[in-house]
Amino acid sequence: LVPRLRPFTSTIFAEMTALAVKAGAVNLGQGFPDTDGPAAMLERARQAIADGVNQYPPGPGMPELRAAIAARRAGFGQRFDPDTEVLVTVGATEAIAASLLALVQAGDEVIVFEPYYDSYAASVAMAGARRVVVSLAEQESGRFGVDVDALRAAVTPRTKAVLVNSPHNPTGTVFTREELAGIAAVCAEHDLIAICDEVYEDLVFDGLEHLPLGAFPGMAERTLTISSAGKSYNCTGWKIGWACGPAPLVAAVRAAKQFMTFVGGAPFQPAVAHALSHEDAWVGALRSSLSDKRLRLSAGLADAGFAVRRTEGTYFVCADVRPLGFTDGLQLCRELPEKAGVAGVPVQVFTDNPDRWRHLVRFAFCKKDDVIDEALARLRELR
Ligand code: PMP
Ligand code: GLN
Repeated sequence: LVPRLRPFTSTIFAEMTALAVKAGAVNLGQGFPDTDGPAAMLERARQAIADGVNQYPPGPGMPELRAAIAARRAGFGQRFDPDTEVLVTVGATEAIAASLLALVQAGDEVIVFEPYYDSYAASVAMAGARRVVVSLAEQESGRFGVDVDALRAAVTPRTKAVLVNSPHNPTGTVFTREELAGIAAVCAEHDLIAICDEVYEDLVFDGLEHLPLGAFPGMAERTLTISSAGKSYNCTGWKIGWACGPAPLVAAVRAAKQFMTFVGGAPFQPAVAHALSHEDAWVGALRSSLSDKRLRLSAGLADAGFAVRRTEGTYFVCADVRPLGFTDGLQLCRELPEKAGVAGVPVQVFTDNPDRWRHLVRFAFCKKDDVIDEALARLRELR
């Protein structure tokens, strides 16, 4: 393995899921739902297979899917030409990797907020660029906010791009209008490309609003907006994602993508096109169900003795393990499946400053209520 990939031999999700399986633990580690997406969407995929939609789809993605993606983005106040400004990818993961491979190279710096989703670090490394981290700042409220001054201070003449993830995995923070305006100002001042991972865009609670950075003044021409169907429609295994942006940026991403996977997921593309255009009510019900699950898990974790941080969106809640007498989230997560019969994910592995994040463990609430309750019953035994 080449040196630049040596830190990335195994993902934390694979490690913790393997421990969970081995111990027969309730898996609140890896974030994936345990129920299926909208029935009509599933039927569209079955029908597509039966109808012979089983060969390579068009390079940029099927036209009906690109049109549905553009229409969906219009709902967020963004305008894209489905022919030149929308690219279908193999999940958001490929869109992120292809964006970085296409737009940055050795000598360039890419700013990421920590804790960061693990694929960002690996993709920046694959592109040969250098990752520069800016820590999210824990606030009184238990929310993790953006320190715009710290972002500005991290910019150097070599900075090429900033990776922005809101709603944010693993903290569950939804970036505010002020925070995003601050990021936009820094991008404009320093001529940076923004690569925005918005896979949890539909999973925002408490009446908060998801605001795409690319919709802020002056950002459309320098932003790639990336999302995927996995989280909005409970189909994480379908791996249908997309990147939207100005034609030159999307053409660059497409150049990389065509030699990574070429195309993907033919029969799933019409199914996701259907979901994007017809399943808003289903997504609304998912959002409110997840919001309840978040409250259920947060209250139960607090009851079990954790100090629970605030979650505004996503699948995840972060809990401070120190009140239970533990100091190291990674060590605890390695023991937890055996010790308590529950799996979580340590936040420190998503950072370059583990000491700052060592006390936090991420638990996923995208699970059936009885699964959450079983995990909580087991965690209460920890004390
Ligand atoms: N970004 C974030 C923040 C995620 O949490 C995930 C997956 N859970 C992804 C990207 C990957 O999305 P996909 O499965 O569409 O590749
Ligand atoms: N994104 C999911 C999570 O954060 C997991 C995806 C994966 O296993 N790579 O839990």
